[in-house]
Amino acid sequence: MIQKKIAILGSTGSIGTQALQVIQAHPEQYEAYVLTANHRVDQLIAQARTHRPEAVVIADEAHYPRLREALADLPIKVYAGAQALCQIVEDSAIDLVLTAMVGYAGLKPTIHAIRAGKAIALANKETLVVAGELINCLAQTHRVPILPVDSEHSAIFQCLAGELENPVEKVILTASGGPFRTCSHAQLCAATKAEALRHPNWEMGAKITIDSASMMNKGFEVIEAKWLFGLQPGQIEVVVHPQSIIHSMVQFEDGSIKAQLGLPDMRLPIQYAFSYPRRLKNELPRLDFRTCPTLTFEQPDTTRFRNLALAYEALQRGGNMPCIVNAANEVVVAAFLRDEVSFPDMSRVIAATMAQATYLPQPQYDDYVQTDQEARRLASNILKSTSF
Ligand code: NAD
Ligand code: MG
Repeated sequence: MIQKKIAILGSTGSIGTQALQVIQAHPEQYEAYVLTANHRVDQLIAQARTHRPEAVVIADEAHYPRLREALADLPIKVYAGAQALCQIVEDSAIDLVLTAMVGYAGLKPTIHAIRAGKAIALANKETLVVAGELINCLAQTHRVPILPVDSEHSAIFQCLAGELENPVEKVILTASGGPFRTCSHAQLCAATKAEALRHPNWEMGAKITIDSASMMNKGFEVIEAKWLFGLQPGQIEVVVHPQSIIHSMVQFEDGSIKAQLGLPDMRLPIQYAFSYPRRLKNELPRLDFRTCPTLTFEQPDTTRFRNLALAYEALQRGGNMPCIVNAANEVVVAAFLRDEVSFPDMSRVIAATMAQATYLPQPQYDDYVQTDQEARRLASNILKSTSF
């Protein structure tokens, strides 16, 4: 196998650091060629000294002098700013770009990477939520694969291997249900950010952890599945499976269901996206059925977890509606993390933003940029008003 040169957008995050572990475990196959971060300059410096990439980028330009000085003794190129992220992914030596940034900010560099012909290992699901149609179109034009990193989509992708000619009846996305799975509405009203950040099965960045607690993460994954696998909304089902052992399933037209199982560990889907279509031997902990807990399944409750219903509604309406939901969600999650909104009110602000924002049935790139700005402004105003 030729060594793949990998650019990691968001190397200091949960996915980014686990991707570096995968690279470190397979030095003959992979090289960390570009590392990038938003603010965490000290962590980026430490990563650069360990992995010796060709280049590093810090999105927040205020940290540039410190980063440059700290790496001055090494032959590592140092850049700063959001635009530098878009430029660096176009480097001709890069084979694959792992999009492990969080939120809408991942869209633009992903577009640049696709246009430059890079394979995409996609962790940043917001990119597909916001602009799935555009991304698919670009990926087709530039003949680049979009390889899923999200564990559910990796599971579906693995179930589909060897099934090219066999139509899918439906996919079944599993959801852990998060820390509030068994909470009453009254308990949800009093939920604190510390409780929401305590995910039962996965250690992830703050934003996706809140999205998991509110089920918006699962709603986004439904939209992500539509674009990755070319499905209709009615073909995407969600089932709550609190143990997170079955990562997702595919049902074919003969009724047969294939599932992918394993311990919850993101290093496996990250590695599969890197090594696809091959599998690489590794030393990750194995699932042992003799000690495995009982696997259980429940219907998701869209009354307590309204975000899942809102995401399905956005998917049905199409156009820029998922982009509106994403922007409003980023605003309310940031507010929840500042203790400025209650847990259930996050959904109410998102629903009100969906009702007020300008709907566009066939958005182009510039429309997404406008929509994102408008929906953020609306959601912030709705949050400030008491009447929503
Ligand atoms: P995180 O918050 O731990 O890390 C985010 C990374 O992106 C950091 O390196 C940060 O510096 C960088 N970043 C954030 N905002 C940026 C900006 N504006 N410009 C440049 N860089 C920026 O998040 P995470 O949990 O690693 O999640 C990353 C993405 O992967 C998200 O889209 C998430 O939904 C998705 N994902 C994560 C997991 C998981 O297990 N953590 C699983 C599936 C999907
Ligand atoms: Mg997931």
